[in-house]
Amino acid sequence: MKITIAGSAGFCFGVKRALAIALKAAASDRKVYMLGDIVHNEVVVDEMRAAGIKRIKAPLESREMRTLLIRAHGVQQDTVTCARRAGYKIIDATCPMVKEIHAIAKTLEKDNRTVIIIGDKEHDEVRGIVGQLKKRPVIISSPSDISRKTLRNIARAGVVVQSTQEEAKVFRIVSALKRRIRDLAFRNTICNPTRTKQKEARTLPVKNDVVIVVGSKSSANTKRLYQISRSLNRRTYWVNSPGDLRRVWFKLARRVGITAGASTPESSIRNVAEGIRNISV
Ligand code: SF4
Repeated sequence: MKITIAGSAGFCFGVKRALAIALKAAASDRKVYMLGDIVHNEVVVDEMRAAGIKRIKAPLESREMRTLLIRAHGVQQDTVTCARRAGYKIIDATCPMVKEIHAIAKTLEKDNRTVIIIGDKEHDEVRGIVGQLKKRPVIISSPSDISRKTLRNIARAGVVVQSTQEEAKVFRIVSALKRRIRDLAFRNTICNPTRTKQKEARTLPVKNDVVIVVGSKSSANTKRLYQISRSLNRRTYWVNSPGDLRRVWFKLARRVGITAGASTPESSIRNVAEGIRNISV
């Protein structure tokens, strides 16, 4: 059985950068806190905990010397202000590509446009974009969210996209918006690492008998890779560790492709590849 691992599988540039910043901060003599998990992956979360980084819900006041680490997908401006007031030193590990989305959204707002965000309403990155704006933007997660009611009185709008959205879905939403909004400026802010991953998630299922997507079940970008691959090859399976692999999946398979979400560590990909090799012996 030939195993091919997608070149883009695993950590993206922004996650690698954020983890390096986090570990460097943890090595200092201050206590380091983070709002929520650094990424949606249990192995990485455990690693951060072992390095001494603590997870909190909100920055509370205290006399100790503390640092608040902002995660790769950014945060609302209010949260940073609040943390500074509470005495935290801020270390900002927001991905530069997410910062660019913040800047674009603010420019669209200054240009007198209603900002529309295409993304998952509950995702931290989307909340972070919302938190940069003066007026409440419209958030659209799927074409079915577009209705006369949501777009009432909008004649001039600007669209930004959560960095990890699926491009085909985004284009469907934008065409529907164009039919309803006279003056629409569209900025495609899906990041390049996501584009490359999704492109590979479309070729792997065609070139392989089986595709294995590695990543946590809580990772939205891993889920998207799984959905793209599964729509092209029914023998696509989503695992978090080698223990999730089933021998029956590989029956008569000669080629297996592996990809992994942006929050999946290299060690998990290696372990799963090893698990597949053992199954095929
Ligand atoms: S998915 Fe893209 S925007 Fe998000 S952290 Fe990675 S590189 Fe940055």
